Order: sequence, then C-alpha cells, then structure tokens
Amino acid sequence: MIVKLDKCIGCRSCEIACAREHSPSKSGERITADTRKALSRISIRTGLTNPTDAPEMRPRKGKSKTAITTGKAYPIRCRHCDDPKCVEACMSGALIKNEEGAVIHDPDKCVGCWMCIMACPYGAIKRDLENKIIVKCDLCLHRDTPACVEACKTGAIVCIVGEKSERQNESIAEGSG
Ligand code: SF4
Ligand code: SF4
Repeated sequence: MIVKLDKCIGCRSCEIACAREHSPSKSGERITADTRKALSRISIRTGLTNPTDAPEMRPRKGKSKTAITTGKAYPIRCRHCDDPKCVEACMSGALIKNEEGAVIHDPDKCVGCWMCIMACPYGAIKRDLENKIIVKCDLCLHRDTPACVEACKTGAIVCIVGEKSERQNESIAEGSG
C-alpha cells in the first residue's frame, strides 16, 4: 500500500469504507449498529506540531493536551513489509506472508497475545477486544480493489502488492513529507 501524503486531506473516507467492508452487514446504513465489530484496519491521525517550534501552541495550565494537535493528516496502515516483524513475533502461526506479498491474519489461529502489536514498528495492528484477537489490513483480497483505495477520492492511497511496495512507500512518504 502506498500513501501519497500530499494528497491526504484527512476526510476519513478510507476509515469508514474499511470498517464497512469488514462489518458483518457490509452496509453503510448499519455501520453505526455494527461499530463494535466493524473495526477499520486503517486509521487517520493528525500530526503534532512540536511545541518548541510553535510557542503559541504550547499547552497552558488547565488546557487539554489536545489543544496542541494540529498539522498534516496521514493514514496509519499495514505496509505488508518485506521482512514483517509481526509474522516473526507470532508464535501461533496466525500471521503469514503469502506468495503475493500480503501479510495475512488467520483469526482461528490467533490467541490474542498482542505480540504482533508490540513487534509492528508502524502501529498498524488493532485489538478486537470483543473477540480477543487482532485485526489488520487484509488488502481486501476478496475484492478487485481495496475498499480504502476505492473510497479515497483524492488518490492518496494506491495499492501495489509486491516485494517493492514497502520501499516505494518509504520513498514516496519521504518525498511528500
Ligand atoms: S502489521 Fe506491521 S510489521 Fe506486520 S506487515 Fe504490517 S506494517 Fe509490517
Ligand atoms: S495476537 Fe494473534 S496474530 Fe498477534 S502474535 Fe498473538 S497469536 Fe499471533
């Protein structure tokens, strides 16, 4: 998965599409009712301005830390790493890297130990506390195009499955900052 940071406007359409795609009903109308089970595999975060660089944004006494939240929106998502630390950490065999280069999770083998969450350097894995397993991006292999890619109207998310995707991702992220 490649993200063109300069194109992300933080609209969260990708989050909603992912949650809907992985919900039991796959229905936009019932997304609220499904919320506990409809966990998005992608998260939009907003950068924190360094308070030392922006004195006016420093938290003041009695103000919430969220007062300093500002900056560029960016998606947190699985990069389907060439050398996936999550797979290495998973002792139950619930995570594998398949022949197409996708890192896939088998919920039936997952014991909810959270080792993969600790091992992932990108914070790309979420807890499904209701079922005591993890959830992660499955590249929507059941679809022609991942739901997040289809939902992103600015073209900020591009799907490339293959061994070079992580490297390309890093170079694009660095270039668009
Ligand atoms: S979950 Fe994390 S470590 Fe595993 S493939 Fe995705 S980004 Fe890499
Ligand atoms: S939480 Fe599940 S997928 Fe993650 S390391 Fe443990 S058994 Fe493997």
